[in-house]
Amino acid sequence: MSKKIPLHTKIFIGLVLGVIIGLIFGPKTRAIEFLGTIFIRLITMIVVPLVFFSLSLGTASLGDIKKLGRIGLKSFLYFCLTTALAITMGLLVANLLKPGIGLNDQVKKELLKNYQQTVENRTSLLQEKPSLISVLVNIVPTNPIKAMAEGEMLQVIFIAIIFGLCLTFITEEKSKPLLKIFEAANDTILQVINLVMKFAPYGVLALVASIIGQFGAGILLTLLKYVLVTITGLAFHALVVDGLLVKFLGKIKPSYFFKKTSDAALIAFSTSSSNATIPVALECLDNVGVKREYSSFVIPLGATINMDGTALYQGVAAIFIAQIYGLELTLGAQATIVLMALLASVGTAGVPGAGMIMLAMVLKQVGIPLEGVALILGVDRLIDMCRTAVNMLGNMAASVFIHTSEEKRPPVA
Ligand code: ASP
Repeated sequence: MSKKIPLHTKIFIGLVLGVIIGLIFGPKTRAIEFLGTIFIRLITMIVVPLVFFSLSLGTASLGDIKKLGRIGLKSFLYFCLTTALAITMGLLVANLLKPGIGLNDQVKKELLKNYQQTVENRTSLLQEKPSLISVLVNIVPTNPIKAMAEGEMLQVIFIAIIFGLCLTFITEEKSKPLLKIFEAANDTILQVINLVMKFAPYGVLALVASIIGQFGAGILLTLLKYVLVTITGLAFHALVVDGLLVKFLGKIKPSYFFKKTSDAALIAFSTSSSNATIPVALECLDNVGVKREYSSFVIPLGATINMDGTALYQGVAAIFIAQIYGLELTLGAQATIVLMALLASVGTAGVPGAGMIMLAMVLKQVGIPLEGVALILGVDRLIDMCRTAVNMLGNMAASVFIHTSEEKRPPVA
């Protein structure tokens, strides 16, 4: 594939080729499955360092509570609330529209057989689904190195938040060199993601070919349903939930807000990166009349820790994969998904594909087979574009809210 073809096009070509190869060669495609497995291992490899560095940095920038005062706390609460709303929306549409139900029994049997084999290799997945209390207790690690080595994500998140916060408690002279190193480490990890994503078209091809090869075209129809359900949830969150928040908390007309912020939404859609959208989002908010003193804090912070679209997608994806594998998710397990996706969205970097990496963490916590990610990988870029646009719309709505609540009147252009 030529270098000039953009990555998302390459991934799409990989997907289409994978389908064709899978349909032609059938079960023989298992021979190339290892390429897909390597790709999954590569993205899993990044999770612990990514979460630790990006979350410590995010917290360190938020953690100067004395200086940032009310605004920081208010933004954080707003982010948590909207993200929780978004995940709930995701769980709701997925439970109602059941995107993973409808595969024929033969396909399901095959998938389950596969799952049994997977489980035999991963005893950790065999453990009972954790209760909410034990999840809470287990957030606190007894040994940070062990937590990282074992990829205990909740514990890694806990360590990162504590570490980032305490970094702001020591003198600037002392914290600055470490922050610089963390920034460099974080940037390097983002480069690693870029590198790994270059392999994505081939990984996707191999994964899709072996899935279609094993299960036939039925999986595609199921995927179509998954895509439609996710996009329905995302559209509802952006237009209705954000619309209402902008109207009642931001005190401006939703149609005006969406018109003024459409540029940033489009850039987010086409780059799939919240980070890359920051400059355009700030400009759009200038046009709405939001003061820079608010937007320049809320937007970069939001691009790092607030991901409504990503959280919603993780809710839908978790339910979808569970439905495919025929797993019943109890209310407790779904509550765990809300908590995990909320935490995951804080730790997700605003770059393409990061949400999919964090999805593995959400799945692991409720005992859904990580291999299920392979099922949705082929269409992930499309979903990534949509969820990133929703992520940034959420951040811009948050900026309007902060302006209105701090100034005691809505922004005027
Ligand atoms: N691409 C998303 C963002 O930058 C993160 C994700 O992968 O969900 O906001």
